[in-house]
Amino acid sequence: MATRTLESRFERMSVNDENDDGSSRLYQKSKVTTTSTAGAHSTAARNNLFKVALQSQNTNTVSATVTLPSQAAQRKPLPPNSPVRNKTTATTSRSSQDELAVSAVVDRKSATASSYVDQPLTPKLFHLGMFEIGRPLGKGKFGRVYLARERSSSFICALKVLYKSELQHGSGVEKQVRREIEIQSNLRHPNILKLYGHFHDSKRIFLILEFAGKGELYKHLRREERFPEWKAAQYIAQMASALRYLHRKHVIHRDIKPENILMGIHGEIKISDFGWSVHAPNNRRATLCGTLDYLPPEMIGSGSRNNYYNEKVDLWSLGVLTYEFLVGEAPFEDTPIMTQKRIARADMTIPEWVSKEAKDLIKKLLVLDPEKRLPLEEVQSHPWIVKHCVKGERRANRDASK
Ligand code: ATP
Ligand code: MG
Repeated sequence: MATRTLESRFERMSVNDENDDGSSRLYQKSKVTTTSTAGAHSTAARNNLFKVALQSQNTNTVSATVTLPSQAAQRKPLPPNSPVRNKTTATTSRSSQDELAVSAVVDRKSATASSYVDQPLTPKLFHLGMFEIGRPLGKGKFGRVYLARERSSSFICALKVLYKSELQHGSGVEKQVRREIEIQSNLRHPNILKLYGHFHDSKRIFLILEFAGKGELYKHLRREERFPEWKAAQYIAQMASALRYLHRKHVIHRDIKPENILMGIHGEIKISDFGWSVHAPNNRRATLCGTLDYLPPEMIGSGSRNNYYNEKVDLWSLGVLTYEFLVGEAPFEDTPIMTQKRIARADMTIPEWVSKEAKDLIKKLLVLDPEKRLPLEEVQSHPWIVKHCVKGERRANRDASK
C-alpha cells in the first residue's frame, strides 16, 4: 500500500510534468517535430539520452558524434559570468520550494531560447532495458551506482539505483530525492554533475547521471594527503564558477565538502549530491571527523533553527574546502562540541607553510558575518587564483560569457 503510494508519486515526478504550463508546450512541440506515429515516438525515446548528450555540447546544432559527458563538459564553454550575483534573492531554507520554482522558470526561458527539438520528451520514457549495466561504481546511503551504457547510442553514464523500500524508512527522504531530481536536471555547467533523466520500476528509482571517470575527490585528497597550491587553486576556481552558476539560479548547495565532489576523466570538478544533506548526512564522514566541519556559524548553535541564512553559507564551505585542500584536514576538526564552539568563533589556525595569498583567501571566506564573506566573483579574481590558473583558460571563459 505504502509502496504504491510512493510509486504513484514518482510516476509523475518530473519537472516537465509538474511545474509547468510552458513545458507542456515543449512537449507538444517535441511531439510535433519528432513523431507522427507511435513507432517514431519510441525511436525518439531511445534517442533521448543521445540528444541530451549532444545538447550538452551544443544547444543549437545536432551532430552525429557520440561524446562522453566528461568530454562534452571539457568542450563546453563556461556559462556567462554576468555580474547579476546581487540579484540573488535569499532563500531561507533548503526545504523551501522557491528555489526550485525560480530555477525552473529560469531554465524554461533558456530552453525556449535554445532548441525545442532537443528537449527530452518525458523522463518516464527511459527504461532499464535501454541500458547495459557495467561495474559497480559505489554504494551510497540509499542505493548503488553502476557504470552503464545506453544501447542505441553507446552513451556512457552512471546509473544510480535507489530502492523505494529503503527511501520509505527515512522521513522526508522521498522529498529529498524529488528535490535532487528537480534541481539537478535543470543545471548545465561543466563543473556540476549532470542528471540526464530518471525512470522507475515497481521497486527502484533510477537516476541517469553523468559518469565521473575519476571518482571521488575525497579519495584523491586522502591519497595525496593534501594538494599542491596550483592544484587546489584550480579546483577552487572551478568550484567558484559552479557555485556562481548555482547562486544565479537561486540554488544553495549547502553541503559542499570533498565527499560530494566527483572528478571527471580530465580531473575536472563535478559537484554532486543536490538535495540530500538535510535528511541524509554522510555517515562515513560522521565516523571520521563529524558532520559539523563544513557548517557555517549561522547554521549551527543555539537558536540557529530559526536563523535566516542565504547562499553565503556556500562561501563559508568554500573557505573550509580551500583550507582542507591545502592542509589535508578541515580547519575546525575537533570533538563535535569543540568544533561547534570553534566554528562559532571562526577559531582556526592556518599552518605557516601555506602561502600568503592562500591564507588571505581563506581568511576572507571564513568570516562570521555572512555578508562580509568574499563574493564569488572576487574569489575568481583573487591573486591566489589568478596566480595558479592558466591565463588562456580564464580568457576563454570570459570570451564564452560574452
Ligand atoms: P549519499 O547516498 O548520501 O549521496 P554517497 O554520495 O556516498 O551517499 P552516491 O551518490 O549514491 O552515494 O554514490 C555512491 C558512490 O558511487 C560515490 O561515492 C562515488 O564513488 C560513486 N559514484 C556516484 N555517482 C557517480 C558518478 N556519476 N560517476 C562515478 N562514480 C559515481
Ligand atoms: Mg552522493
